[in-house]
Amino acid sequence: MTARVAVAPSEPPSSLAARLARLIAAGGPISVAQYMAAANAHYYASREPFGSAGDFITAPEVSQTFGEMIGIWLADLWQRAGRPAPVHYVEAGPGRGTLARDALRVMARFGLVPQVHLVETSTRLRACQAEWLPAAHWHADFSTLPEDGALLFVANEFLDALPVRQLVKTAAGWRERLVGHRDGRFRPVAGERPMDAAVPSALRAAQVGAILETSPAAAAMVADIAARIAAQGGAALVIDYGHDESRLGSTLQAVRAHAGADPFADPGEADLTALVDFSVLAPIAQTAGVRWLGTIEQRHFLAALGIAARIAMLARRAPARRDALEAALARLTAPDQMGQLFKVMALAAKGWPDGAGFAPA
Ligand code: SAH
Repeated sequence: MTARVAVAPSEPPSSLAARLARLIAAGGPISVAQYMAAANAHYYASREPFGSAGDFITAPEVSQTFGEMIGIWLADLWQRAGRPAPVHYVEAGPGRGTLARDALRVMARFGLVPQVHLVETSTRLRACQAEWLPAAHWHADFSTLPEDGALLFVANEFLDALPVRQLVKTAAGWRERLVGHRDGRFRPVAGERPMDAAVPSALRAAQVGAILETSPAAAAMVADIAARIAAQGGAALVIDYGHDESRLGSTLQAVRAHAGADPFADPGEADLTALVDFSVLAPIAQTAGVRWLGTIEQRHFLAALGIAARIAMLARRAPARRDALEAALARLTAPDQMGQLFKVMALAAKGWPDGAGFAPA
């Protein structure tokens, strides 16, 4: 299953392919990370890919209850932390702003009305977010976030869109996996420079063709936000599809026009993502000074927050929507849909309480 499910055809080809082909002709193959960064920057700048009119559907677009459960988790923690003020809601890669809107509506019922800070690079998506969240402050990265209060940080399907770096084992040893361009097509090629020193010694003897994928950008983002929370107080929920142990292999995937696509075809016209390796992120956060509350499957997180009761309540209020509501619940929580592949990692400042659904360490 592709985690982001395509629902509609995407737009006509861009000039990005031509630009990357010229770049490669002039300077040689580029890294997978550079290719992925350029492709996704173009992709998110040029369209609104979410929901029924876009390429794929994310959890907050499946049901309002997803954002509501996140709002309840944050409000509960904030209350038990003694209702600190000032307090900021920070969301990275908020898409259409749906999650923020649903979470903030629930938080207000608990008396939690934070300032809203959205970290978003796409101008087009910022405009879309502003329709629902007119009072928000926008940031291009974490460096300009406020330094004067607790941060309640959320990121859903954000880290998976950040560029991954790949190393590939060749007969001559480990090399960086690059993207070349020949006969009018982009294709992965192995770099010339030996990279064995960049590979853990246990992996040096891996089979030819093995790929080691890392996400320096995801690691840096988690380190940054963890350091802010350690210094200012607060908590974080990082939700994404991924695994909680490191494994070999490329997880780079493209979703376009209803289906999985070749990630090296038509850069900028498909959504490129990679699975998140949560096992490396927890120690990075801890090193930056926060408590790692745990990493659990999305189905367990949503069940602990009471999503089934909330869906049942909505169905009682609108009986005609019962089937759609139950389908949404299954989509978010069934193990063969988003329930198991998606993980929720929770972090909190030292001195902040444990979060609902995460067993105390
Ligand atoms: N969280 C939303 C959208 C996920 S798609 C949802 O669940 O529906 C990824 C989002 O991250 C988009 O809003 C995209 O524009 C944004 N994004 C991608 N790379 C980014 C970067 N480097 N910095 C900030 N935002 C980024």
